[in-house]
Amino acid sequence: MAVQSPIEISNREIEHKDDIEPLEYHGYWEPIGTALLENTGLTVLITFRGKKFQPYIMGGILNNNEKYIFEQLHFHWADHDESGCEHTLEGIKYSMEAHVVHYNSKYDNFDIAKNKNDGLLVVAFFIQACGDKECKEFRKITAGIDRVQKVYTRTSLDPDCLSWIGLQELSKHYYTYKGSLTTAPYFESVTWIIYRTPIYVSKGQVASFRNLQSCPRDENKRIVNNYREIQKPTKQPEVIFARNIVKKSKL
Ligand SMILES: [Zn+2]
Repeated sequence: MAVQSPIEISNREIEHKDDIEPLEYHGYWEPIGTALLENTGLTVLITFRGKKFQPYIMGGILNNNEKYIFEQLHFHWADHDESGCEHTLEGIKYSMEAHVVHYNSKYDNFDIAKNKNDGLLVVAFFIQACGDKECKEFRKITAGIDRVQKVYTRTSLDPDCLSWIGLQELSKHYYTYKGSLTTAPYFESVTWIIYRTPIYVSKGQVASFRNLQSCPRDENKRIVNNYREIQKPTKQPEVIFARNIVKKSKL
């Protein structure tokens, strides 16, 4: 049974699993094709064009042979550094949350998959503003943010613009549960994968997102606080923490 997202994740209520195969990421870091960054008025969105194949994820807690294909990546943030994420860990809030949205390859496209029980997979990364030292990998995103200040504008990014995700140890240390989209129409079709460790960027890098304009008629309106409040499901969802991974036997 899926619940509405986001939720607060508490270590007291989750099941730890050590015998999970590694989660595999394919095609996220190939310097081929174009990445596009777009100001939608609600967030900024990254999509890819002209890659040999769309990036996809498989393995880990996913069922055998299940494959989820990259659709888009977007961000949530606040008007200050002490909140902005959607999920919380033991009540801790981070400055931003990045969502990498995927759809199940058994469906033809995102639109067909989006309301199916097993339709979507969203990988979430916490981003924390910390000091003045920029995260070099994240600069591939923030360089583009400055070029899409006006609503509905777009720009191209380095096709390797997701390299900051690779700063994580991606095969383990993630939480997973069955939840929903955090924007309308809130379909309960999402398998969530949420990494425990935040990615640290500078305060200025987070602040650059707050300059994005949200309204074509009023230049002073900015995109801020585009996160959904924590949902309190009456029945707690089953949350699993994939702690360690199985070492594949060479025999
Ligand atoms: Zn989101």
